[in-house]
Amino acid sequence: MKIVCIARNYVDHAKELNNAVPTTPVLFLKPDTALLQGNAFFMPDFSADMHYETELVIRIGKNGKHIDESFALNYVDAITTGIDFTARDVQARQKEKGLPWEIAKAFDQSAVVGSWQDADPVRNGRPVHFSMHRNGNLVQQGNSQDMIFSVARQISYASTFFTLRQGDILFTGTPSGVGPVAPGDKLEGFLETDKVFDIQIR
Ligand code: MG
Repeated sequence: MKIVCIARNYVDHAKELNNAVPTTPVLFLKPDTALLQGNAFFMPDFSADMHYETELVIRIGKNGKHIDESFALNYVDAITTGIDFTARDVQARQKEKGLPWEIAKAFDQSAVVGSWQDADPVRNGRPVHFSMHRNGNLVQQGNSQDMIFSVARQISYASTFFTLRQGDILFTGTPSGVGPVAPGDKLEGFLETDKVFDIQIR
């Protein structure tokens, strides 16, 4: 299983990090070892600025490569909300030097995936709202209709480089409102009104 992630997929988030708005999707990968097991995230000692990025997350339901955009939503079999944990200080140093982001993005427990929900809204092209509360306060929310590249486009584009397999996971990018976490924080993710994860930062 692999995790394919899209960066800079919302205009407001690209702007908050002073990035150009891309004209083709920007992709990176996390290995399966990045999946958070359990409900506790332990702050790694290599970063002093760990950020949450709340994202709509897609599970791929069947194998495919060179998937045409018009059929791509048939490959979605479940959806949820997740967190693409990012060591922002490490990422900034990598970006400065033009180096890959993996050590800032693909480390152990960097991928939080909520409980899987029915894929029908995405498969039928309906807008999906997702959000996250930190210590009981709404800190980030987004809607799939505000994506620069649609879920179908992301699946199609990713599959021109990487064969997608049943069980692969797609992180579809974060809207604006990313921010730091600290030990003791409680992070709750929602897909529409359903709570899909409840994480404790340690
Ligand atoms: Mg992200």
